[in-house]
Amino acid sequence: MKYTSTRDTQTRVSSKQAISQGISVEGGLFVPTELPYISQLEMITLRDLNYLQRAEYILGGFLSDYSENELRDCIQGAYGSGRFDDDDNAAPLKEVGHKDYFLELWHGSTCAFKDMALQLLPYLLTYAAKSCSQGRETVILVATSGDTGKAALEGFKDVAGTKIMVFYPQDGVSPAQKLQMITQEGENVAVCAIKGNFDDAQTAVKKIFTSPEVNKALLKNNMRFSSANSINWGRLAPQIVYYFSAYADLLKQHALKSTDDKVNIVVPTGNFGNILAAYYAKYMGLPVNKLICASNSNKILTDFINTGIYDKNREFLTTISPSMDILISSNLERLLYHLCNGESERVKGWMSSLEQKGVYEVEDDVKAILNKLFYAGFCSEEQTESEIYRLFKDFGYLADTHTAVASYVCGEYRRKTGDKLPCIIASTASPFKFSSSVLEALGNETEGLTEFEKIDALAQLTRVPAPEPLKGLENKAVRFEDVCTDETMIQTVFNMLGIKE
Ligand SMILES: *Cc1c(COP(=O)(O)O)cnc(C)c1O
Repeated sequence: MKYTSTRDTQTRVSSKQAISQGISVEGGLFVPTELPYISQLEMITLRDLNYLQRAEYILGGFLSDYSENELRDCIQGAYGSGRFDDDDNAAPLKEVGHKDYFLELWHGSTCAFKDMALQLLPYLLTYAAKSCSQGRETVILVATSGDTGKAALEGFKDVAGTKIMVFYPQDGVSPAQKLQMITQEGENVAVCAIKGNFDDAQTAVKKIFTSPEVNKALLKNNMRFSSANSINWGRLAPQIVYYFSAYADLLKQHALKSTDDKVNIVVPTGNFGNILAAYYAKYMGLPVNKLICASNSNKILTDFINTGIYDKNREFLTTISPSMDILISSNLERLLYHLCNGESERVKGWMSSLEQKGVYEVEDDVKAILNKLFYAGFCSEEQTESEIYRLFKDFGYLADTHTAVASYVCGEYRRKTGDKLPCIIASTASPFKFSSSVLEALGNETEGLTEFEKIDALAQLTRVPAPEPLKGLENKAVRFEDVCTDETMIQTVFNMLGIKE
């Protein structure tokens, strides 16, 4: 299996190269040149496997230059005993109401779905570095809207041959998310706030990442960059697994009668990584009817899917679902590449228009496929709160602010279309990461309470136990309090790496 670039189809790299490099030299994203196909018969095989075995089965097709033993070792390390709440199923499925299945992706150590990929990536990268990095130290740069940062820090902490630096928007993450990051342990980690929003952080990180001067300075010090953001193929591939796993679980629970039965997949979307993994799953043979893209009030993707115009010239809103506060959805580039059958010149045109004018419009051929595959909707702040309230009151299900966005859009889709197919709804974070917003949505006062009192209050009110990793933060020392701007970010990176210009 080879990978090419969305901006240069001459490119051919192995999966190890794609993962260790992170991004293609000309700024394009790595995409597979073909997709492994999972037949209906194989779906039956998957039904009777546990999560680790399912992961081996699906990932084996994509990561073909990893030996069977290497891949098994990576998967054991990521999803094996003690890594997720359930040793056999890292991603359990819960039916809420009728035919709405919440795929809970937050049972790992940082309580968000990013753990599903970021527990695995360091293992994949370590094997990749052995064949691709020529003995250089790998420096991971991360821009985070809240959850990626912590999950990447946990995944990479004290991993030999790596250093990791995380930048988060100063006022753009929840208090629990911030606490998780600034108390991070490990010898090879650093965390810094950046003045600005997530897009500013992501743009600044991407600039450093592709800067020839910075890369030269790193090489001189026997280091090289890689990325743990979802532009890295090693982030996306593990996410494909849980959609197959969810379908396999539905077969196992007899919620589906046969492998002819279709489902919809609903994803609360920001950088378009999670839903793109569902798109790949569909093209690998998973019987998916609609891919439902749910946005918060930063509804740039809703507008794009409904009009074909991607326009980031709009106000950036800070919402109660901060991990989706994004106006530049990086992984959309991969989707566009596939939708126009790999015409990289067109992709380049759209991306340079986005960079220069902040807007592009796709032509009718692309618009037509987009509308056939996707339904897009958004959910306001009030609607997010009332959805949290409704799910808890009617079903005793406690959802976080992001999952509630998906659940709301799913309901809207059902009302508008009358579609009665089962829906798999990606449940992307523990509600306790957003205790304040969730408590308020349930009608409770939060004023004057510390973050930990809010976590306790939410647990008492709902009788849902709070995750240990979040409760444990209370006793951790704050290690990182630096703030930088996009201009001083390079210096911050050099300081951390001990590089003198
Ligand atoms: C990252 C994140 C999202 C958005 O996922 P993308 O892959 O960026 O679209 C949604 N919800 C939560 C809780 C997240 O952490």
